[in-house]
Amino acid sequence: MEPTTIFWLILITIWLLFIWDFYMGWRQYRVHRDNVKRPDHVSEIITEEEYNKARAYKLDKHLYGFVTHTWSHLQTNAVLLLGLLPFFWSISGNISEKIYGKSEIFQSIVFASLTSIIETLIGIPFELFDTFVIEEKHGFNKQTLGFFIKDHIKKVVVSLVIMTPIVAGSKRSAHSNAYMYGFWKNKRIVLFDTLLSEEMRDEVKKLIEAEKAEKAKDQKPEEETINKEATEKKSEEENTKEHKKLGMNDDEVVAVLGHELGHWKLWHTVSNLIISEANLLFLLYIFAYFYRQKSLYLAFGFNTQPTLIGLVIVFQMITAPYNELVSFLATIMSRKMEFAADRFSAELGYAKLLCSALVKLGKDNLSLPIDDPLYSMVHHSHPPIPERMAAMKKYI
Ligand SMILES: [Zn+2]
Repeated sequence: MEPTTIFWLILITIWLLFIWDFYMGWRQYRVHRDNVKRPDHVSEIITEEEYNKARAYKLDKHLYGFVTHTWSHLQTNAVLLLGLLPFFWSISGNISEKIYGKSEIFQSIVFASLTSIIETLIGIPFELFDTFVIEEKHGFNKQTLGFFIKDHIKKVVVSLVIMTPIVAGSKRSAHSNAYMYGFWKNKRIVLFDTLLSEEMRDEVKKLIEAEKAEKAKDQKPEEETINKEATEKKSEEENTKEHKKLGMNDDEVVAVLGHELGHWKLWHTVSNLIISEANLLFLLYIFAYFYRQKSLYLAFGFNTQPTLIGLVIVFQMITAPYNELVSFLATIMSRKMEFAADRFSAELGYAKLLCSALVKLGKDNLSLPIDDPLYSMVHHSHPPIPERMAAMKKYI
């Protein structure tokens, strides 16, 4: 294929994916915008007041998302149309030659550092707006400007050192409340203590204290004081942090446990592992094929074939439509698995308890429990709580 044809094909694909994503986001926005009043079917999950709060937050987030999404799309366009990849590559070559001499590896390191610094700098105004205007307005911002700056400098330094951008950071926690992982003899089910009610948390704390006291008997006195200090410090931190408690009782926690055991019994973790390994193998195969194609490099303005540029082109441009498709299929599969795990718990007799547990879980994340069906199908790996509860109705 001609290099120019490749270039325009890739650009068109990037535009199509952008339009698709934007359309999805707009559909979800429309649902959130039009449902001014809380719909009756979610009255169990969310109070009127919480609904209004979550809705106002979501609407702001949608608009912010439209702007950042469009901006990053335009940025990609600029990179491609203005030939910024070969431009920065040759600058990196000049820098590395001055410092180290001619070396593709060193040039790649300079290139990765340079582009990651530029990307961070461009992203900072957006992050500042998100943290100190949107999150602040809705009462979620816990950062000070000083912390924000320190945090960012740290992230850049770390990413320069280990050469991989640190994406996750001090964003508001989005972890799930319970999950299972591991295989064969190393299975673990993690249940966060935020699930528990006040009394149960106290019980657990007492148990841990007792265990610690037991251990402390065998330890040297110095170690003990250090441990004690650490514990005190930790509980202080816990007190200052505003933990949202879900207040589940024992039986509801058991129902959640039943759901997680369902994932294990039904081979979900193993199948997920096999699928993701197969996907990785396929992606590496694609890379192995494409990164030797001279026309691919020519399409982006490169006369040489640096491996790092091959990685960027193949994994960011060529495989983009494939990745979109895979993530869509993975979401569909994950939703099926969630329903199956719910069914497993329900068949053990926990349908009613799991429903009430889900109601409490739904209250934790400040999400709005109304979704555009298509958006939800593409983006949410967990089915909406009202749907999960409806599926369990027949077991009650
Ligand atoms: Zn699950």
